[in-house]
Amino acid sequence: MLSREKITINGIVQGVGFRPFVYNLARKYALAGYVRNNSAGVLIEIEGLPKSLNQFREGLRRESPPLAQIVSCEVEPLRPKGDRAFAIEASERGDSPVTLISPDICVCPDCLEELFDPTDRRYRYPFINCTNCGPRYTIVRSLPYDRLFTSMAEFDLCATCEQEYRDSGNRRFHAQPNACPDCGPQLSLKDNRGRQIETSDVVQTTVALLQEGEIVAVRGLGGFHLAVNAFDESAVQELRRRKGRRQKPFALMAPDMDTVRKFCRLSEEEQAVLQSPQRPIVILRALSNLKLAPSIAPGTNYLGFMLPYTPLHYVLLRDNFQALVMTSANFAEEPIAIGNDEAEDRLKDVADFFLLHDREILQRCDDSIVSCVGGAPRLFRRSRGYVPQPVFLKKPTEKRILACGAELKNSIALSRGDTVFLSQHIGDLDNPAAFTFYENSINHLQKILEIKPEAIAYDLHPEYLSTKWALEQQEIPKVGVQHHHAHLVSVLAENQVEERAIGIILDGTGYGSDGTIWGGEILIGDTCDFERFAWLSPVALPGGAAAIRAPWRMAVSFLKQAFGEQLHELNIPILKDRPATEVQLIEQIIEKNINSPLTSSCGRLFDAVAAILNIRGEINYEAQAAIELEMCIDVSEKSWYKDAVSQSEPGEALGLAPLIRAVVRDYEHGISPDKIAARFHRSLAELFLRSAVYARSKNQIELVALSGGVFQNKYFFNYLVRRLEEEKFRVVTHKLVPTNDGGIALGQIVIADQKLRKLKL
Ligand code: ZN
Ligand code: ZN
Ligand code: FE
Repeated sequence: MLSREKITINGIVQGVGFRPFVYNLARKYALAGYVRNNSAGVLIEIEGLPKSLNQFREGLRRESPPLAQIVSCEVEPLRPKGDRAFAIEASERGDSPVTLISPDICVCPDCLEELFDPTDRRYRYPFINCTNCGPRYTIVRSLPYDRLFTSMAEFDLCATCEQEYRDSGNRRFHAQPNACPDCGPQLSLKDNRGRQIETSDVVQTTVALLQEGEIVAVRGLGGFHLAVNAFDESAVQELRRRKGRRQKPFALMAPDMDTVRKFCRLSEEEQAVLQSPQRPIVILRALSNLKLAPSIAPGTNYLGFMLPYTPLHYVLLRDNFQALVMTSANFAEEPIAIGNDEAEDRLKDVADFFLLHDREILQRCDDSIVSCVGGAPRLFRRSRGYVPQPVFLKKPTEKRILACGAELKNSIALSRGDTVFLSQHIGDLDNPAAFTFYENSINHLQKILEIKPEAIAYDLHPEYLSTKWALEQQEIPKVGVQHHHAHLVSVLAENQVEERAIGIILDGTGYGSDGTIWGGEILIGDTCDFERFAWLSPVALPGGAAAIRAPWRMAVSFLKQAFGEQLHELNIPILKDRPATEVQLIEQIIEKNINSPLTSSCGRLFDAVAAILNIRGEINYEAQAAIELEMCIDVSEKSWYKDAVSQSEPGEALGLAPLIRAVVRDYEHGISPDKIAARFHRSLAELFLRSAVYARSKNQIELVALSGGVFQNKYFFNYLVRRLEEEKFRVVTHKLVPTNDGGIALGQIVIADQKLRKLKL
């Protein structure tokens, strides 16, 4: 007896080799019928023995191509037609495509083998790709995902490539970016005065330049990198000087896994993420006594490594370098350069040479950054390789919503039903170039996802450019969302949790419902609303933003609160080594309340302790003081300030003066800063734990949700999670979106949806 079924598959199933896969699977089980793309995804009609049909469906789920992501799969029985063969049919053209574009994916093993096979026609061709790999999101101009609507449109396929493209048995069947040395993109090399470098082998010449210590801007997949030899200290220093980046660590690229092992200690999860098709930068524990240039990552024990992801990276690195510095080609927080002319213009004083190619980058996409914390990979920056893969909600949003994100590490989001698309990392919106990128991203994402938003969600901070942008939009409902509530709901949403939770939300800055600056919050809430259960007792932020750049000012603020006038008698270098007038000035602006708003920020508390321990008084990049405080922890230290923690109230304002006094007492008694750092981290976690226990006793809630940039701190995260679990809490954390402000837009969408439902807008 034969059966026939209609199978409709939705998700990332176009442009990822799905139809050839279905074709081969059908042949394997001797089934007849057809497969074709339609506006919803892929449609299959399949006929054969019931047992074979089961195996076929099982295979669809289990063996689907690496880039495919099946979101839904509906099966409908049909009457058998007596088909004899299985065929790939031409696509239907629907009018509302909901099919998903794949993220950009690193070169696959098959292409890699061809790349280094001297007999292959694509030997060392730096733009080799197939249906299983290559550029996607960054080359898309509009839908449908078809060569004509990508930046490959201007390259006509040669006869051989065309044949591959049309052959359903070929690995390059319908590979839209298919190319070869005869018909595809080409490299070129220029100096920083725009002169073409004449050479028969651009790659080898570039390698030689890098080996001589030159700085080369390399056009990549989602933007330009600035590359230098990672063993050349003077070249790395020169890059820092020219880029105006004093201490923030540079990312590195090594040719393969074995080489990374020479530099870093790797867990199994870290190896898996490094080698994953997304190829993010992975933050790894560095081994000691490395020969790498010291100024790559001063002040930290970690190195950010990635493996090559484009064929160009492979031909540059393999057999040539153990490691290259590969840092985004930009100044400070400006967006990364993507166009040839743009890069040559903006970077002429930074790069000595430009390794260019002629395949346009249509979507800027930085490297993603992952850190394995608590045994799982966590995204610190969600960008290339992950975007535009959606996050799925438990309950669909009623309206299509645009979420504007926050100010720093901005990322926006768009929803359609149960699907939320987060944009790539857009960055800090405090410069005009970034703001243009922000507006362009909103427009482009709407276009390629074909989502026209029916409502807008934004942060309550009146000074955020994203908020100002939102409020300027006409004739569309707008919903303001409190920053830390968005953090809380973001972590709930990605874990598909709807119940009320105790949210421990710790970050640097967020606009509170009462108009003060929040950042050390215990909220009790869900997707609808929240209550502020407890918070770090507020201190002055002397000089506003200036205090963020100068942790020593925060130290003065906390010490003043803890010691009052006696602050001048303390034996603390950060105060003693500074002219007394400077310290007095800070005290005065606090007393007179001159530009010194109150804050419950947890990030600022870490800053203050780093300054008190004389680890860092001023910072060169965001969170530097907190990072260096974490770096110096003595992990063998097991004690903490029990008395200080028990002196604090468990609800409402959590007093920090006893904790600060304990830190200072230890320091004055000559206890080493690495021990104090450990005690401080543990005590602070215990303080929040105590408050969570109290919150549970009052509200009968067992679920704790952790969010906010502070949770990028591995030691603090691990300690708090372990203690919460020991106290029998259920804990949810971020894995799909960043715990920092890069993940806020997800929470904004879900909260806005709830509010709109209530208001019946
Ligand atoms: Zn491939
Ligand atoms: Zn060709
Ligand atoms: Fe935040």
